[in-house]
Amino acid sequence: MKLGVMGGTFDPIHMGHLVTGEEARYEFGLHRILFVPSARPPHKKERRNSPAADRVRMAELAVEGNSHLGVSDIEVRREGLSYTVDTLRALHVMHGAATELYFITGADAILEILTWKDPAELLAEAYFIAATRPGYPLERLHEALPALNSHGEAAGSRVFTLEVPALAISSTDIRDRVAAGRPFRYLVPDPVWSYITEKRLYL
Ligand code: NAP
Repeated sequence: MKLGVMGGTFDPIHMGHLVTGEEARYEFGLHRILFVPSARPPHKKERRNSPAADRVRMAELAVEGNSHLGVSDIEVRREGLSYTVDTLRALHVMHGAATELYFITGADAILEILTWKDPAELLAEAYFIAATRPGYPLERLHEALPALNSHGEAAGSRVFTLEVPALAISSTDIRDRVAAGRPFRYLVPDPVWSYITEKRLYL
């Protein structure tokens, strides 16, 4: 089985994330995509995230009705910082060592993976898909790929890129829109729009 693992803060999850999941599923022949909201990101963050329970619930609402997509609260239930290598190890235990994992996240994060915990093991546990917005300077990624792909003992290409036009939508823009009272309906699935509105998130 090939399992896609969408890592990110998802504050909030939006249409760009869902399109990215579907694109990755098609392009890489993945059987299923699991959204894994990060609970306690190990690196410094400028802003405080919404509670993990809200971000997980919005992800659950977003994937409803698509049997290829799911949500895992594995990083929320685990204590301590949310290291990706721990998540990938745990997913291999749950789904079997033969399951091929594809970790999908934003390109800027992928550029940093050699600084994450246990990078050699990280690259052995999964393939990585760097999703980019239109206008992203792809040359930065292309320059970094040889170093990423030759790190550790895993043979062959481990890191790929995926340009997704729908990623012009961003969580930051949605939060800013909510705070400013500007429209954000249709940038997120309807149940997520209702959730944000009813719980008065981002105001
Ligand atoms: P982030 O702050 O949520 O996202 C950074 C950028 O990437 C944003 O522009 C974001 O756009 C975009 N993005 C995030 N997730 C995406 C996805 N699945 N598909 C497409 N674009 C996505 O996330 P982050 O803090 O950089 O971390 C990303 C992932 O890497 C998380 O799972 C995190 O746990 C992991 N990570 C692990 C380590 C470690 O193990 N040491 C260190 C750093 C990061 P939006 O704002 O629109 O989502």
